Amino acid sequence: MEEIFVENILNKALKCHSLNKEEIITLLQYGGDKLIHTADNVRKKYTGDGVYIRALIEFSNYCTRTCYYCGLRVENNKIHRYRMSVPEIISAAKDAIEKGFHTIVLQSGEDSRFKIDELCRIVEEIKKNDAAVTLSIGEKSFEEYKRLKSAGADRYLLRIETTNRELYQKYHPKMSFENRLRCLEDLRTLGYEVGTGSLIGLEEQSVEMIAEDILFFKKINADMIGLGVFIPHPDTPLGRADAGDFELARRAVSVTRLILPDINIPATTAMETLKPNGRLLVLSAGANVVMLNAAEDTEHKKDYSIYPDKAGVNEGLEESLAGLKNSLDKIGRKIIVSKGFRYNNRGG
Ligand code: SF4
Repeated sequence: MEEIFVENILNKALKCHSLNKEEIITLLQYGGDKLIHTADNVRKKYTGDGVYIRALIEFSNYCTRTCYYCGLRVENNKIHRYRMSVPEIISAAKDAIEKGFHTIVLQSGEDSRFKIDELCRIVEEIKKNDAAVTLSIGEKSFEEYKRLKSAGADRYLLRIETTNRELYQKYHPKMSFENRLRCLEDLRTLGYEVGTGSLIGLEEQSVEMIAEDILFFKKINADMIGLGVFIPHPDTPLGRADAGDFELARRAVSVTRLILPDINIPATTAMETLKPNGRLLVLSAGANVVMLNAAEDTEHKKDYSIYPDKAGVNEGLEESLAGLKNSLDKIGRKIIVSKGFRYNNRGG
């Protein structure tokens, strides 16, 4: 019986790329291989077989926040903290560009030590090269986002994590769900490509809530969606919780692809960490982007431990790139050298 429902829902999604909550829930629960296969076809039709690569520079693991699931939370005093200098960040970005990357993703905890002038300078210096800049540095004011945009930043990643207010407040003490929404609105108003996403597998998170997250992505017409899967970090309040369900997160990627067919969807490192070959499995389920860590300092990669045992921390950038090329060959995909904006997927 479920098979007929799934088939009908997939046919509807193919026609109009729009689904209601009940239909999304059915796909998340019973979608199976048909869902994965259909999402892979939609990915192929709208974004092709190319995989956009992004060079990720995690430039500071200081954070003033206390998100329950994250190893970078300010209350974790077991972590070794580091902060790259402005010249180090610029130099790492230039190295990555020389190695063939056309997008630099600058990521950090919410580190108040970096002033907006410094961040703008970093963006301006990187933009002197032929590269797009994505920022993933948390909640800021409208004015700060505006200055960063004027400095040349192209995209901004700010995951909503969950659209369920109660769950959000529970896992993000002293943070405001409303402010998170305000940030996403401001980013859209200012003309950024806007990336958001969720964390799948938090305790008390139901399939209904994940369906609501996906509807939210559609409602704000997000340009990028990063879906992570919860992996317990021992030095956090959720250290003893169970990890999230890889297959459920993978189905969430597929459903997202069905209703936002031309967006960019990374196969996140968390998916590779949770399951061997996780990245390829997600790329075969609707994803079209991979971020590779550009840090030459292995210790920094290890210290940026949002969750433990992150995949690929012992590899250099060239090694990661070679490994990715090899594994993409196996699924008939190839790296595409491009800044990889969403409009590229529309023939722009
Ligand atoms: S999830 Fe982000 S904001 Fe929250 S503690 Fe970790 S780095 Fe900080």
